[in-house]
Amino acid sequence: MNDSTPAETDVPLYRPATLTQALALLRDNPDARPLGGGQTLVPMLTLGYAQVSAIIALADIAELHGITRLTDGSVRIGAMTTHAEIAACTTFVGGQSLLSHTAGQIADPAIRSFGTIGGACAHGDTVADWPPSLVAADARVVVAGPGGNREIRAQDFFLNILTTALEPGELVVAIVVPALAGRAFYRKLARVEGDYATVSVAVVGAVDKGICKSLAIAIGACGPAPVRLASAEALLVGRAVNRMSAEEAGTLLARATDPISDVRGSAAYRKRVLPRIVAETVLEVLR
Ligand SMILES: Cc1cc2nc3c(=O)[nH]c(=O)nc-3n(C[C@H](O)[C@H](O)[C@H](O)COP(=O)(O)OP(=O)(O)OC[C@H]3O[C@@H](n4cnc5c(N)ncnc54)[C@H](O)[C@@H]3O)c2cc1C
Repeated sequence: MNDSTPAETDVPLYRPATLTQALALLRDNPDARPLGGGQTLVPMLTLGYAQVSAIIALADIAELHGITRLTDGSVRIGAMTTHAEIAACTTFVGGQSLLSHTAGQIADPAIRSFGTIGGACAHGDTVADWPPSLVAADARVVVAGPGGNREIRAQDFFLNILTTALEPGELVVAIVVPALAGRAFYRKLARVEGDYATVSVAVVGAVDKGICKSLAIAIGACGPAPVRLASAEALLVGRAVNRMSAEEAGTLLARATDPISDVRGSAAYRKRVLPRIVAETVLEVLR
């Protein structure tokens, strides 16, 4: 069905055709959950980890789909764009390639085909791949809610474990990534291909005649939110970067992380591998 009336299920399923309808449904059903690709929400419901009064599927809302290049060189990615679509996208220029590089490393092909960037951002998992990448890319999360639209810097969006700056009744509408000079790389250390990151590093940077002109480094899976550190980047910008200085920046970043010990690795292991992985990723971008 393609309207705002519930289907015949225990939990009502709505399929609004517009953002306005979706926001009205959220307002009228405070305990409802929006459904993106369902790759996280459906298992949570099946396992009884989440209770909802209704499900509001976002799939039919056209403005939430697709990747658009804007006149200032930034790109707008609709919240319902899948990881697979982003991985395959050829619209990105320079450091924006971080987006396709990150998307291609999320989970496995099946999950990438359904999981969406909006759902992943809204879920706010600390071990997910989008948070560090979007922080390194200086992305903005576009949100719509009862109070209208607002844009939140990725740095200010991912707040804590499964906690974001989204307010009740708000939806992620899009992600906007500015024009980014240079190159980018996303390095994910995982136990096996398809697993969540044990440690991840997203880097965007530009080099000219051997001198680092700009650099952004963000660490994922090593604390309640992605870690970006101005002092680590300042150590390398304006200089000819070598392995030693890149590891020094990595050491500063490792000190700023607050990882947990879990099945993927101990906190000490995560802190120990970070300087080397940061250095390798930075040198890959600035080569
Ligand atoms: C086995 C497995 C392995 C995975 N591995 C990885 C991995 O390696 N790296 C990684 O990053 N992720 C991984 N994921 C997560 C995957 O990327 C999901 O796509 C993602 O977490 C959620 O996206 P979704 O579109 O499926 O959201 P859904 O499951 O539909 O929703 C997730 C949450 O976000 C809310 N929501 C959805 N869309 C919006 C919106 N537009 N606005 C507001 N709220 C919204 C929902 O209500 C729900 O609370 C994995 C998942 C599984 C099941």
